[in-house]
Amino acid sequence: MKFIIATNNAHKLTELERILAPLGINAVSPKDEGISLGDVEETGKTFLENSFIKAQAACEKTGLPAIADDSGICVDALDGGPGIYSARFAGEEASDADRNDLILEKLKDCENRGAHYTAAITCVFPNGDKLQVEGKCFGEIAREPYGDGGFGYDPIFLYDGKSFGNFTPEEKDRVSHRGNALRMMQKKLKEYLEENNAYK
Ligand code: IMP
Repeated sequence: MKFIIATNNAHKLTELERILAPLGINAVSPKDEGISLGDVEETGKTFLENSFIKAQAACEKTGLPAIADDSGICVDALDGGPGIYSARFAGEEASDADRNDLILEKLKDCENRGAHYTAAITCVFPNGDKLQVEGKCFGEIAREPYGDGGFGYDPIFLYDGKSFGNFTPEEKDRVSHRGNALRMMQKKLKEYLEENNAYK
């Protein structure tokens, strides 16, 4: 069965494809389909609402079942921020390194380093059905960036004392917010596809 993954983020695409493949799902990107999803305005107030907005837009545009992720990092000492604003934190033109530096700067004198990633995933079907899950991964903000693996906030996110920037992709999948959410989605999708005799 063919699904479109509603993201222009190559890193997210790879992580989503890797975890959906065992379900027999042929996950294609907007680029594979020769289309552009453009910038869908993320007007939701939660990760779940924003993942629905993105999946719905891709499903409407392609007529394919669509999966979208909305994710971000929530820092305890920043009252859960940047949260749904993780991509825009530090301004539109900022780089991953700029965003990491800004978090480190804000937490400079702060002992409370607690943080978690959240990933909401929504799957929308052309008949209007939708499946939604949310996964989390709890850790801490490092004192400085470590490693060059992963993407985004990974170099400053410590899981069990080790930076996600030093995790292999497989190690990250096993414990990450997106890995956890996708395993929940795998289960839901399998049940949904079996109930609807669409499992291939
Ligand atoms: P979105 O594309 O609107 O969902 O934005 C997600 C934001 O959270 C981006 O800034 C990402 O860099 C960050 N983010 C989400 N998941 C991860 C992750 O697994 N590692 C590092 N950063 C992440």
